[in-house]
Amino acid sequence: MDKLKVNSLSAVYTTSQGQVYAVDDVDFELDDGKSMGIAGESACGKSTLGLCIIRMLPGKASGKIIFDDKSILDMPESDFDEAYRWKKISMVFQGAMNSLDPVFTVRDQFLEVLRQHGLEGDANSIISDAIKSVSLDEEVLKKYPHELSGGMKQRAVIAMALLLKPKLVIADEPTTALDVLIQAQVINLIKSLKKQGMSFILITHDLAVLSEVADMVGVMYGGHMVEFGSSEEVYLHPKHPYTQSLLKSIPTLHGDKPAYIRGTPPSLLEPPTQCRFLDRCPDAMDVCKKVPPKFKTASGYVRCWLYDDT
Ligand code: ATP
Ligand code: SF4
Repeated sequence: MDKLKVNSLSAVYTTSQGQVYAVDDVDFELDDGKSMGIAGESACGKSTLGLCIIRMLPGKASGKIIFDDKSILDMPESDFDEAYRWKKISMVFQGAMNSLDPVFTVRDQFLEVLRQHGLEGDANSIISDAIKSVSLDEEVLKKYPHELSGGMKQRAVIAMALLLKPKLVIADEPTTALDVLIQAQVINLIKSLKKQGMSFILITHDLAVLSEVADMVGVMYGGHMVEFGSSEEVYLHPKHPYTQSLLKSIPTLHGDKPAYIRGTPPSLLEPPTQCRFLDRCPDAMDVCKKVPPKFKTASGYVRCWLYDDT
């Protein structure tokens, strides 16, 4: 079974200003065929987490990632590349639709991906299956990126990630910068691919998008996953004060004004040793000056002292 289990995952970048602790002690599990959303404000470590899973991090990662019952973070790079990257786990990178090469047709760019990741079988039928799976006409393959609309480009880059029929696709901000109609097309596409048994990890600021497609949700803050649970539980009964604030910041047509979260997130160059949300939390207590442990919830966990029942 291609279940994904992430345990105590941490990732660090080395910069001229020092070490950036972008992901710190993250745990979650995702069952085969299920989808997970990763939410949180900018620079909280969402993309870094995705890059750790596909092992394309320009930094160091530690901890455990189990996929397909194999420990994939510590296996030799050549083994991971040969058996997992793009074949079982692929990624739609943030802004990928804007990085399509303007001087090559869509088909040539698909062929390049196949060439890089080991072509097995008939390239034409692999490419044609992939483009059809995102509901694009095969005519699109002959076109250059500038001849496609934003929605067609985004579907083409998703098709690129699907070329080798992976079990898990990590999609980083796949709907950002698209208008609402095109966003709806991409969301419907993800839903239909899910029905075909594919798992998704969807990274986004947009909680409304996650509520549409995610079975599980992980909320990140300052490099920590502060809450993880079923979508229903996180949306209907958010526990962590950060999750609660994040949900209150979604504008509604007739409700109260959206709330904002005062203050700024902590620097990941020197992350605080206490609860990372302390300075912004309306419920802070003395005990919060320690790192909150993970307290179990019905479907996951929350990192907040409010749930300490000992
Ligand atoms: P966004 O929503 O804006 O994409 P994010 O939640 O995906 O943000 P990351 O891109 O994972 O956050 O960044 C987490 C932290 O790591 C940030 O402090 C960022 O500045 C830093 N970071 C990201 N990539 C690098 C890199 N290549 N080198 C050094 N630091 C990096
Ligand atoms: Fe707020 Fe304390 Fe919970 Fe941190 S641990 S989120 S400061 S209540």
